[in-house]
Amino acid sequence: MTKRLKILDIWVDAITKPEAMQKVADILKNGQRPHAIFAANPEKNFSVPKDPELHKIFEQADILLPDGIGMVWAARTLYGANLDRIPGAEFFEDICALAAQGGYKVFIYGSTEEVNRQSAEILQARFPGLLIAGRAHGYLGIKDMPALIKHINSSQAEILFIALGSPKQEKWFGAHKDSLRSVKIVQGIGGTLDTIVGKVRRAPEIWRRVYAEWLYRLLKEPKRLKRQKVLPLFMVGVLHKKFKQVICSLGGS
Ligand code: UDP
Repeated sequence: MTKRLKILDIWVDAITKPEAMQKVADILKNGQRPHAIFAANPEKNFSVPKDPELHKIFEQADILLPDGIGMVWAARTLYGANLDRIPGAEFFEDICALAAQGGYKVFIYGSTEEVNRQSAEILQARFPGLLIAGRAHGYLGIKDMPALIKHINSSQAEILFIALGSPKQEKWFGAHKDSLRSVKIVQGIGGTLDTIVGKVRRAPEIWRRVYAEWLYRLLKEPKRLKRQKVLPLFMVGVLHKKFKQVICSLGGS
C-alpha cells in the first residue's frame, strides 16, 4: 500500500511514477468507482484546509502526486523520504499513452472551448489511437451540470480529465463523483491544456532539471506571485515542524 505522508496541513503520497502508473492500470482493469488523482503542492497547504469539504475530498483522493519540488523537499526534511517529482502535466501524458495502448476512452472537461478543442486534436496526433469519447469546455454553469454528467456517462469514458484549476476541479469531483457511471480514473489537471496548446509554455528542460520550474512560471506570469508568495511560509512551517521533531527526539533520548 502507498504510504501517505502528512506535510503540515495536507498530504502527499510516497509513490514513484511507475508505481502510480501501475495503480492507474489496476484501477482501469478492476476499479468499480471513480478514483481521484490530484496534485499536492505547497499552495494547496494553505487553500485546502480552509474549506472542510475540500479538505475531505483531498484527503480521500486515491493518488496525491508529489507535483513539485516543494513537496519533495518537505518529505525529505520531515521524513527522510526520497520522493521523485511527478509533475501532474507529465502524469497526464502518461495516462494518455496508457489509454491509447489499452483502448480506454477519455473525456476532457475544462479550459476554454478553443483550448479544449485544440488540445484534443494535439493529443490525438501525439498518441495515435487515443479515443477521446467526449469533451466539454470549463465555463458551463450549474444549470448545465445534469447535461454534462449525461454527456460524460453516455460517452462511456473510463478516464476523465478535469481542467478547471484548483480548487474548482477538486470540488467538482466531490460534488459529482457519485453520478459518474463508467469513469474509473479522474485526474485534476489544472492549466495543463493551456500548456498543450502552447498558450502557456512549460519551463524548458534546463529549468526543470534544476527544480526551478516554479521560478520560470513566475517570471512568465507575474500574476502567479499572489499564489506563490505562500512558498516562504510553507518552508518556515516545515522547518519549524522539523525543529520540533528534533527537540522531541532529544528530550526522549
Ligand atoms: N478554467 C475553467 N473554468 C473555470 C476557471 C478556469 O475551465 O471556471 C480553466 C482555465 O481556462 C485554465 C485552467 O482552468 O485552463 C486553470 O489553470 P491554472 O493554471 O490557473 O490552474 P492550476 O494548474 O494552477 O491549478
